[in-house]
Amino acid sequence: MRDVHCLSRSYRRVVCKLLVIGCIFSEPTLAQTQPQSATQTPLPHVAVLATGGTIAGTAANETQSTGYKSGVLTADALLKSVPSLGKVAHVSGEQVSNVGSENITNEILLKLARRVNQLLAQPDIAGVVITHGTDTLEETAYFLNLVVKSDKPVVLTGSMRPSTAISADGPSNILQAVTVAASPTARGRGVMIVLNDRIGSARFTTKTNANTLDTFRSPDDGFLGTLIDNVPHFETTVAKLQTTQTPFDVSKMDSLPEVDIVYGHQNDGGYMYDAAVAHGARGIVVAGVGAGSGSLLTLPSIKRAIEKGVIVVRSSRTGSGYIPEDPAYVGLLGDNLNPQKARILLMLALTVTNNPERVQEIFHQF
Ligand code: ASP
Repeated sequence: MRDVHCLSRSYRRVVCKLLVIGCIFSEPTLAQTQPQSATQTPLPHVAVLATGGTIAGTAANETQSTGYKSGVLTADALLKSVPSLGKVAHVSGEQVSNVGSENITNEILLKLARRVNQLLAQPDIAGVVITHGTDTLEETAYFLNLVVKSDKPVVLTGSMRPSTAISADGPSNILQAVTVAASPTARGRGVMIVLNDRIGSARFTTKTNANTLDTFRSPDDGFLGTLIDNVPHFETTVAKLQTTQTPFDVSKMDSLPEVDIVYGHQNDGGYMYDAAVAHGARGIVVAGVGAGSGSLLTLPSIKRAIEKGVIVVRSSRTGSGYIPEDPAYVGLLGDNLNPQKARILLMLALTVTNNPERVQEIFHQF
């Protein structure tokens, strides 16, 4: 009994010694016991999807900002042009298309939406940046704002000057866009448009000038925020429903309903509406004059379209402002969406309903 007791005591001593030695050798270093500093935290992973545009364009000389070829540089070349990206995020690049944004089709939109949703579903991806031509950037941004199923930041950016310009805006816009996409404070704010120090919402931001750097404005709602010294400062959020709050699921679609825009003007005879219906449009957006009305000469054509089940939505060619009821005119109210964004919402609305009352509700919600 005694021998057994002694044995177990000496056995316990050995185990204790081993534990002490083990503790000494495995004692955490000072750095490990303290919270990780910013430089030690692994950088967030931001995926950059390139679609083309001026940001990937090259010109014959450094002063040329028109008449250049857009969609030349690849995603990798774009990322290499911004060495300081490495301080902000771990970035990976993919080419989705390489076209001027006037050539973005519904098929490209659907492909982009699928890829963005796949990437955001990955736990290691903090956010997505899309480089895009500025001419229709707001349409892609608003489309994604309605079909992305995640609160993670999605940021579209582009440039007004080609990559070869003496003061190209592309590299700084990419850096700012990746910074916003990597930022936890950008979560839950819907799809954003970042150019020229400004952070805008996809719902309200629009291209307002054909040439100048400060072309993107947010006329009805202001900007969401501003980047100062490459730090995002957010001020507001958008009250309209977006991303995870929408009913639109395009994951299995390979086409979208045809919706055309008809531009209002003096002496408008209305035959463009007849042409749209004859071509198979399921929806027509009126880019109406002022608060979304038009020449009484157009009424017979618009009424014929509505009788055939085509959904007609009124918007304003002024580019901002709300559309009120107008007893003298016909069509649903496009809220305060400009015509190009009203077209995007009407395409998506027609994927879930043909009922005019429901479409009207959708126009007030999103
Ligand atoms: N045409 C070009 C585009 O939208 C213009 C630009 O990117 O700024 O692709």
